[in-house]
Amino acid sequence: MASVAIIGAGPGGMSAALALHRAGVRVSLSEGRSTTGAAGSGLSLSAPPMLVLRRLGVDVEGLGAPARLAFCRHDGRPRAAFPALPDIERDVGSAFFGMLRPDLYERMAAALPAGILRTGRRCVGLEQDGERVRARFSDGGQVTADVLVGADGIGSTVRRVLHGPGRIDYHGFVCWQGYCELEGPNREVGRICHDRDTQASWTPILHRGRPYWQWWVLEPWPKGVPFSGDATRHLSRRLTAWTDPLPALVAATRPDRILRREVVDRPRLRTWSAGRVTLLGDAAHATSPYAAYGAGMAIEDGYHLAAQLTGRDLSDPVQVRAGLAAYERQRAARTARTAAFARRLGRAFHSPNRPWQHLRDLLLDHTTIPERLLVAGYTRTLREEVRLVTGPGRGDPP
Ligand SMILES: Cc1cc2nc3c(=O)[nH]c(=O)nc-3n(C[C@H](O)[C@H](O)[C@H](O)COP(=O)(O)OP(=O)(O)OC[C@H]3O[C@@H](n4cnc5c(N)ncnc54)[C@H](O)[C@@H]3O)c2cc1C
Repeated sequence: MASVAIIGAGPGGMSAALALHRAGVRVSLSEGRSTTGAAGSGLSLSAPPMLVLRRLGVDVEGLGAPARLAFCRHDGRPRAAFPALPDIERDVGSAFFGMLRPDLYERMAAALPAGILRTGRRCVGLEQDGERVRARFSDGGQVTADVLVGADGIGSTVRRVLHGPGRIDYHGFVCWQGYCELEGPNREVGRICHDRDTQASWTPILHRGRPYWQWWVLEPWPKGVPFSGDATRHLSRRLTAWTDPLPALVAATRPDRILRREVVDRPRLRTWSAGRVTLLGDAAHATSPYAAYGAGMAIEDGYHLAAQLTGRDLSDPVQVRAGLAAYERQRAARTARTAAFARRLGRAFHSPNRPWQHLRDLLLDHTTIPERLLVAGYTRTLREEVRLVTGPGRGDPP
């Protein structure tokens, strides 16, 4: 029986494990931390990864709140709205869902058959020859398989072994996230809004069946300068010129439900695979959260990787190479495009350059550029990705 060892049980690793198991492969999924849980922040998933989750047998009923997205200015002035996408809404329920990250992880872990996942198992190295690949763990254990998948996130050990240490790029801004309950705002629409150098968004989410809100505030922040002080006070000062509901959402959020993370990504890799080893998700293409698609891409990667390995004799190095090459052909350019788009958006919205800020805001307020660049591009990507999952012969359910 073919075997695949997956390192890292984030959304990408769990997706690959579920898809490969359904394809009849013996899977081992090793997670370095003692649980698969995640910090309690909001997460947006678009239709394609939601479709993948459903196909992988994950119970998505009530997992996320459907919403339409719209861009606006910090004072509430509308800029662009995502159009209705009746085809996607019919097939998936919505183009976009807001949820709490731990709820997603819990649902995915619950779909994994017993015996696949082992927690508290940190990969510290690997070796391969033409026949097999072996991962070594910090507890002295090891696992041997036909193929090894590094799904171990932005600081990936597997990536370092294959491609060297590389660098992680800080973008010059940080992302605050929180979630809370608040009655009043329209739950059909999520907003993404900007002032001169800050971006904020808020969308409805469901958490254990109850209606909540998630919000993000992205603000410029000098490299290496630590934050100290009261997060709620700091954010409400930054948002003084913003109209509700954002300030009200921040005020309604318990301090222990506010997280702050630096926005980073990694340069594009020339290739993801070497011999019997490949990468997926953030390990392959860490992307700034500006795309709100990193977890979505990781889930898609796992699904498409399994589809490309299905039906191949994984003991044969030639077939393994062919499967991994087909997977990379399918995923590398698409994910690189999304990562580059996220990087450009971040630069455009947080640039300290005053003349550029002025020009950008004129274009956003008085032209159709937001629709054409932001909305149309994103809508096209959603449709293409849905087609890749449902289309004939490409991402058939493994
Ligand atoms: C502020 C912020 C907001 C975001 N919002 C969104 C969003 O709204 N929508 C979206 O789609 N994406 C979003 N993302 C991106 C998303 O979080 C990541 O892209 C996604 O988590 C990547 O999934 P992954 O499975 O590849 O890696 P990870 O989620 O990083 O999982 C990797 C796993 O590997 C484990 N691991 C690491 N090293 C080892 C080792 N040596 N041995 C064993 N296990 C190991 C880790 O413990 C972890 O569990 C956001 C990111 C940030 C920073």
